[in-house]
Formats: sequence, structure tokens, C-alpha cells
Amino acid sequence: MGRYIGPVCRLCRREGIKLMLKGIRCESAKCPMERQWRSNPPGMHRWRRGKVSNYGVRLREKQKVKRYYGLFEKQFLHYFERATKLSGNTGQELLQLLERRLDNAVWKLGFAPSHRAARQLIVHGHLKVNGRKVDRPGFQIGAGDSITVRDNEKSKNFVKALLGESGAPVQPWLELDPDKLEGRVVSLPTREHVQIPVEELLIVEMCSR
Ligand code: SF4
Repeated sequence: MGRYIGPVCRLCRREGIKLMLKGIRCESAKCPMERQWRSNPPGMHRWRRGKVSNYGVRLREKQKVKRYYGLFEKQFLHYFERATKLSGNTGQELLQLLERRLDNAVWKLGFAPSHRAARQLIVHGHLKVNGRKVDRPGFQIGAGDSITVRDNEKSKNFVKALLGESGAPVQPWLELDPDKLEGRVVSLPTREHVQIPVEELLIVEMCSR
């Protein structure tokens, strides 16, 4: 599956929030969102844009979530379709499915400083889930799963160098043993664990049309 390879800070500027797509740089003063003159929406004619329509508000919520989790439209709609078939609140089920992606868990464990770095770790085959090699960033993790580093020097050194680089605390639904380079999913993530401000109801309204 493809991935976005354009300038990522532009995505934060478009959404008006820090999507934390560049690891430690996002916490530094170099982040464009920290500078008044660069935190505006991208594009030459932004000042000509008038009032945002209802459709525009809903579109921005959807794009924000897609960009945070590094998904394209088709992948996102696939998750939405799955969420509609689950018994709970569709918006919350959608966010839970996205939080349960392996690349998200690896990032939140601190094995990688950003979502994109986590994705690369997985695709390059450095990680195992429950003892089996998994190279799909979208793999859905479940409660009790263990995420470990492959048993070879290269993978271990690579992860050790990245470990904790983001400086963010490990999420409460995850547990990390930094000595063994092992993470565990204590429980499934809930709505409270989603770290970006999002109104999932607006996304549901948009995607249900
Ligand atoms: Fe760029 Fe990170 Fe700042 Fe977003 S949060 S603008 S990705 S440095």
C-alpha cells in the first residue's frame, strides 16, 4: 500500500494542529506550528478563502484523522466500513480500530520517534507480534499481545538507538520493558487514549452520505 511522501509539516499547517509526524523535531522550536508566520494554512491565496462550509468542517475532521494515522482515502473508508459493522458507537469504533494499528502501537510504545519511523521499522521486518514476524503496519493488535524486536543484533541496535527518542510517556494501555525491548498491550485503547482533538461524529456524518 502506498504512503504519502510529500512535505508533512504542510499537513499540520492545513489542519491547524500539530500532528506530530516528525518525531523530536515536533517538540522543538523548529516546528513551523510554533512560529506565527509559518503556522498559517499553506497556499498562496489562503486569505481569499471565505467562511468554511458545513461540508468543509466535516472534511477537515476526516482529513485530520487520515493524516495522523498515515492513511489514504481508500484505506480510511475500509476502516469506516468495518466500524459500521461493529455493535458500538461507529465513531468510537473507528478510532479504536485506528489506534489498534501496529504502527500506532509501536510509535506509542516509544520504539520509534514518529508514526512514519514506526511504519518503516515494521515494513523492514524488525518486529514480531506474539513471536511471529509481522511486516504489515495495519496489523490489528489485541489485548495481551506482545510486541518484540527480532532476535538479531541489527534489529536490536536499531530499536535501542530509537527507543524513547520521542520523549513521550508510554500510553496507559501499553506496557514497555526497555531492557528486554518488549512491549505488551495491557488493554484495548479507548476513546480517551486518542491524542488528537477530533469530533468523530462529524466524520461519521461525512462518511455516511
Ligand atoms: Fe512539522 Fe511536526 Fe510541527 Fe507537524 S508537529 S508542523 S510535522 S514539526
